[in-house]
Amino acid sequence: MTAGKTETVVISKCMEFRIKPDMEQKVLIWKTFGCCRFVWNHLLDERIGYEKVHKGKLLNTTPAHLKKDNPFLCEVDSMALINTQLNLNQSCRKLFPKGKSPKFRAKGKDKRSYTTNWINNNIEVLHKGDSDNYIKLPKLGLVRIILHRSIPDGWRMKHATVKETASGKFFISLTFDVETEKKDPIKEFDNVEAFDYSMPSLIVSASGENNITSSDIRWYRNLEDKIAKEQRKFSRMQYGSANYLKQKHRIGKLHEKAGNRRKDFLHKLSHDVARDFDVVIVEDINLQHMSQTLNFGKAVYDNGYGMLRTMLSYKLQEKGKVLVKVDKFFPSSKRCSVCHDVNHDLKLADREWTCKSCGTYHDRDKNATKNLLDEGKDILNRWASGDSSLILAPSGVLSGKKLHPQAHSNVRQGGE
Ligand SMILES: [Zn+2]
Repeated sequence: MTAGKTETVVISKCMEFRIKPDMEQKVLIWKTFGCCRFVWNHLLDERIGYEKVHKGKLLNTTPAHLKKDNPFLCEVDSMALINTQLNLNQSCRKLFPKGKSPKFRAKGKDKRSYTTNWINNNIEVLHKGDSDNYIKLPKLGLVRIILHRSIPDGWRMKHATVKETASGKFFISLTFDVETEKKDPIKEFDNVEAFDYSMPSLIVSASGENNITSSDIRWYRNLEDKIAKEQRKFSRMQYGSANYLKQKHRIGKLHEKAGNRRKDFLHKLSHDVARDFDVVIVEDINLQHMSQTLNFGKAVYDNGYGMLRTMLSYKLQEKGKVLVKVDKFFPSSKRCSVCHDVNHDLKLADREWTCKSCGTYHDRDKNATKNLLDEGKDILNRWASGDSSLILAPSGVLSGKKLHPQAHSNVRQGGE
């Protein structure tokens, strides 16, 4: 580095805004969702057929050849279709070698969103008055946008995702490239915090000051009863009727309300933690795997740990701080934090236990966070002393992929 010149890095930033399309625009957005699903399913079908004959080779057709026989595809944003193709290719590359394939998308069940790219000012925010703002979008033209925050100068737009929520609201999330001054990561770790995923809904922190307890999420429990009541009404309604759709949106709204409250709560928590601590240690558990076994309503708050991790990682990164991810095979609950003996007989219901090896009496959660903290600090120290197997990612995440063979026979699922 030359003196006087600051090094810069380009990072991605995302902002989400509510948009209020008129009826004609809504119809076109719905058509675009449908066309993306059509392209996904047709191209997937072609790729699966091709893969069967040409093992290991990926067919790379574009949506263009589908347009000849299906002229309705020309009515929607072509970038949305190309992005569908690119996402599909990515999934195929990941899944085909494992003998699996991406899933076909069913009408009414697929995600209601599409992504388009910024090219030559085709997407632009326009101010017509104090609260009269519009966003120019390909094919849609000017769509009303609620700008609850202004977009900082110098942010370069990359792409935009239009989505419709379960309650029938529309949002746009804009992704930008932002050039910022490169911060050297701190090398002093005075303040370290660890978050252990304990029981569903409970997150335990090493300091004991940043726990998420069941009283913090009572607001969700209250809503949950309400959702269950509305869900029962919904199940008795005639499919596709006007009341059915109304009820569907009502339930969607309740889910969104619960999700928003949780998001606010986690934003405040992660903000405070990123301000007060230099390093935060979390578990690298597979939450997607876990949430698949849960129903939608539960998943709304059960993946709070994943959301907290995401928020922490970028909030810490902005401050030049570090998020340490401890390998998912690390037996944080089953290991005795005093003598490191692993208790393979520990069950999910055991809240307290005594180590057979050294006789220490443990509170399950406290023992687990202490282990997580020790392991995280160990990773941190090895990285700081130059262990080349540990690399700090530009996102500020330090991942410790240390294998614990003794834990492999007992693959740990989240919440254990
Ligand atoms: Zn022990």
